[in-house]
Order: sequence, then structure tokens, then C-alpha cells
Amino acid sequence: MSQTTAENQEDKALPGTLIQPVSDILAHDEHSDHHLHHYHHRYSLSYAPASLVELHIHLDGSFRHTTLFELAQDKGIQLPNGMETTLENFMPYICIQSACRSLAEFLEKFPFFTPIVAGDSDALERVAYEFVEDQAIQGVLYTETRYNPHYFTADKLTPEQVVQAINKGLHRGIKEFSVDVRTILCCIRQHPEWSMEVVDLAEKYRSAGVVGIDIAGDEHNYPIAPHVPAFKRAQQLGIHRTVHAGETGSAESVREAIELCHAERIGHGYAIIDDPSVYNLVRHHDIHLECCLTSSIQTNAIAKYIPQDSEMSEKHFVINGHETKTKLHSHVRSRKEIWHPIHHFARDSLNFSLSCDDPSVLQITNEHENEHALSDLKLSPAQLTQCVFNAARSTFLNDQEQKILIRRLLSNYIPHQVREKHM
Ligand SMILES: [Zn+2]
Repeated sequence: MSQTTAENQEDKALPGTLIQPVSDILAHDEHSDHHLHHYHHRYSLSYAPASLVELHIHLDGSFRHTTLFELAQDKGIQLPNGMETTLENFMPYICIQSACRSLAEFLEKFPFFTPIVAGDSDALERVAYEFVEDQAIQGVLYTETRYNPHYFTADKLTPEQVVQAINKGLHRGIKEFSVDVRTILCCIRQHPEWSMEVVDLAEKYRSAGVVGIDIAGDEHNYPIAPHVPAFKRAQQLGIHRTVHAGETGSAESVREAIELCHAERIGHGYAIIDDPSVYNLVRHHDIHLECCLTSSIQTNAIAKYIPQDSEMSEKHFVINGHETKTKLHSHVRSRKEIWHPIHHFARDSLNFSLSCDDPSVLQITNEHENEHALSDLKLSPAQLTQCVFNAARSTFLNDQEQKILIRRLLSNYIPHQVREKHM
């Protein structure tokens, strides 16, 4: 179904889609045949060889706007208040339009659009397949995408059937687009009763690409304790573990994730700069921090670190050359210094990387995030490259697979002649 749709839409303008149509690029490209052959689909962002590693990206935060809109129309899903169902009217319900005030406000989008795909195996397969395509065209070589299966059952599918449908789409995409995509199944803070089943599914579908588990949801109001038995079991089974912590919660929340849930990676973790003992715990154990720049600003996760003399700067987001109503925080910058917890991590060479978190809800791409890091945070290109290799050595792949990934990255980052001489 998605294949046919893609072909039909080949030449249409795609408002609300983050990726630039390939026809726009080909107009400026003498070597178009090569690129067309290489990507063999309608969008492309990057000419460089795939060289990114994405460890923190929610599948349900990555659905194409146009796909959600099309499915909503097919299913007769109406907008609230009797609004006309146009893409323009639809967008504010599925993505951030301007400065978001809190994580809770950010999370409000999900209950609107999740039912559009929930309980529908074909839709789940389609969005998973498209996810792989979108990763491929952004130059991502390896991705671990995460989701909670229970959120997509809609009393029509079992959590296991959700995993099967998503795996089907991912595997079709992996075959077609040559991106290595694995999955992390999320527990949800508010629903500890699901956690043991999440571990069971991670165990059962390990050979089908499930590499770990996570805890997502409301960190501020729901403690981690009820999830600890499930995480202990995951550790015994050799299932990898990451935990959203220190995003809107405290440094203590990161300590609990590491000490009680045996987390090998932390989603976000910005709050560790508040407590030197937790900061050193992370550093000492080489815990990987999955940082997400725009997300951390839009959800206000880092608001408490804003200096009093800071300046807010916003700019409109541009899609396919057209300025949208969406405003992105360009960055909030102190007149005295550039700041963000990430600066501490970079200065101290902590094991951290940059990810998109929920790119379609935030209306961002990897390219946007890298530009943001370079121009607004003043991270150096070398630091960004280090982030990619930090991510590569912190994946939930087995040792052999990880070595292969790092070798592939090296061949993309380091010129052939240099490798011959030194490696
Ligand atoms: Zn996240």
C-alpha cells in the first residue's frame, strides 16, 4: 500500500513532509542519475555516505505528517471543533507549532495521532517502513528506534501483534534501503503493569531485531520503583537497558536508573550537572547519554539552566522552501556564555551523542540538529564526529555487529589512503 502511494505522489508537492523532494535537488545536480539510482525514491537530504548513528528516536514521534493526514482522511477522523480537515488545520494537532512550554504540553500531541495508526496492522507496517526510508535519506547508517507496543493495540491487536506489524515494515525497509534498524521496546512510567510483558516481548523478538528496553513517560510524577523487577529480569536475560531520566526529573532519577534498573544508557540525563556525585557516576561507568537538542529546549527540560541574562531567539521552520507557521527556538543564549548541559558533557569528554527524539512532532531533521549544535551551541565538527562514534560504541548490538558498524563508519569518515597507511 505504501509503495503504491509513494509512486502516485512522486511529483506532488508534499507540504508537511520534512524531507525535500528529490526533484528539487535534481534541478541543481549534474550527477542526478547517480543519486536517483542510489536513493531510488522521491526525497533526498544528503549526498554524503550514510554516516550517522541514531540511538534515541521514538517511532511514534517520527510518523510522516502526510501519512498521518492521509490515514486520518481515509478513516474519517475529524478535527476537534468541526474544523475543516485540511493539512494546515491538521498540523497543530500532530506537531509543535511554536514555543512549547513543557514536556506535558509536548506529550499532548500523541493522544491525538496515535489512534490514527493504532489497532491497524497495515498502518503500523507502513509507518515503520517509511521510518526506515526517512532514516536512509538522512544519511543514517544505524538506528535504534523505540516504541511502546501497548499504545498501539486499540483493543484490536495484542501487543505482540503490534510488534509483528512494526517488524514487518522495518524489515521490508531494511532490505530496501540498506539501513540497519533495531528496536527498543518502551515501558511506560504510568503503566508498570505492562513492564514485564515488554520484557517478555523483547526476549521473544530478540532475533527479530529487538535489542533492548526503555522507560519513557512522565518522569516527574511517576517513580521508577514499580519497574525495577522487570529491569532486573531484563538484566538476567541479557536484554540491554536504557532509561529516560534526568530530562524533566532530577539527578537522583539518573542515579536510580543506573543503580536500580541497571541502565547502560540514559535518555537525556541533563540533570546530572546538578549533582557532582551522579555526574561522576555517569563518567566513571561510561554511561552513554542520549542527548536531544531541540527536544530539550522545546520540552523545557533545560529551562532551569537558563541564565538570567539569556536571550530567546526564534525562527520560522522552512519546509520545502516555504516558511511555515512553526517557530523553532534558534537557541537561548546568555550574553555571558553559551550554555547547555551538553557543553559540560563535551568539555569533559563524557560518552554522549545527539539524537532527534521525536523528529516529526518537533519538525526537525538530523541535518537541522547538527546545524543547531554547530551554529548555536558552538560544538566543533570534531565533537559532532565524536558523538557519532560515541553512539556507535554504545549501541545495543553484539560485539561483532558493533565492530562491523564502527568499521563501516570509519570507512565513511576517514579517507581510504589514510586508512591504508595507519590502520
Ligand atoms: Zn525520548
